[in-house]
Amino acid sequence: MENPRLTFATPTVIVGDKSLVSLVAHELAHSWSGNLVTFATDKDAWLNEGTTTYVQSRITEALYGRDMADMEEVIDRDELEQEYKTLRPELQRLSLKPGTLADPDDQSSATVYTKGAWFLEFLEKRFGRDVFDPWLKGYFDHFAFQSITTAQFRDYLKTTLIDKHPNVVTMQEVDQWLYEPGIPGNAPQVESAKFATVNAARIAWQGSGQLPAKAVTDAWTTQEWVHFLETMPATLKPEQLAQLDAAYHFTGTANGEIAMRWYPLAERSGYTAAREEMGKFLEKVGRRKLILPIYKALVATPDGLAFAEQVFAKARPGMHPITAGSVQAILDAAKAQATPAAAAP
Ligand SMILES: [Zn+2]
Repeated sequence: MENPRLTFATPTVIVGDKSLVSLVAHELAHSWSGNLVTFATDKDAWLNEGTTTYVQSRITEALYGRDMADMEEVIDRDELEQEYKTLRPELQRLSLKPGTLADPDDQSSATVYTKGAWFLEFLEKRFGRDVFDPWLKGYFDHFAFQSITTAQFRDYLKTTLIDKHPNVVTMQEVDQWLYEPGIPGNAPQVESAKFATVNAARIAWQGSGQLPAKAVTDAWTTQEWVHFLETMPATLKPEQLAQLDAAYHFTGTANGEIAMRWYPLAERSGYTAAREEMGKFLEKVGRRKLILPIYKALVATPDGLAFAEQVFAKARPGMHPITAGSVQAILDAAKAQATPAAAAP
């Protein structure tokens, strides 16, 4: 969480290989996008988070190279694609219509963070950094210490960038990004060479049971492990999970980005050997993004739901109220579905 001149950082970003430090870049970038130029209403949240995520990616690229920035973009965009399969179209607009949100916490992170950053990358790619970078600096200067709406952003973009460099981007294209659901067909695509290696390793393992060479996986960062797990089928055989666990010790990992993908896979696949450590993780970690996917996987079975309720009862007193509310909602929805008759008044 960014505060002007004082970032509060979750310890879950410290995983031993500096692979999650882009969150630090993100919070620091908020000094400009968010704290210097601020969104005026909760319908314009992308102005804070999308811009910040874009700047974060540029910092990651400058510090760790394009490979790392590409991997992070692929992970974010895969997540968006997944979320957009079921997300209400009105929540896929960068600029929300009045009345869309009953609660500001109901925003789609995929839209606000990922689509917002993607839009700016679209502009950057079209205009080139020579033009776009000074423009972005000018934007921060122009609106410094103000709260602005998407409409103000759009007007400024039109007069200072679009109109000044004719035939590069049309306002129609801009408006599609701002006011339409989904991702426009002209969005720049990103491919990660490093993930191609991960895909090949995963496919080979699925076919033959042969794990990749240790020399290969020893060089993998969190991002590669995340992609390795995320691109697995929805369920595996418990013995396949046991094999992965013996080689990579996913169960009990201190890395929340891996845990939030491994435990749901284990739960869906009936690999109960992971339960005990999963419970410890859920008791210890309070970061919403890391624990909600695990609770969602748990509540899919009556046995998992009972386990989730037990763990939540212990974890709740230490939780942030927004997180506790989100977990409670997942449990309530699962219980209502399990006993539809009992839920009726
Ligand atoms: Zn942020």
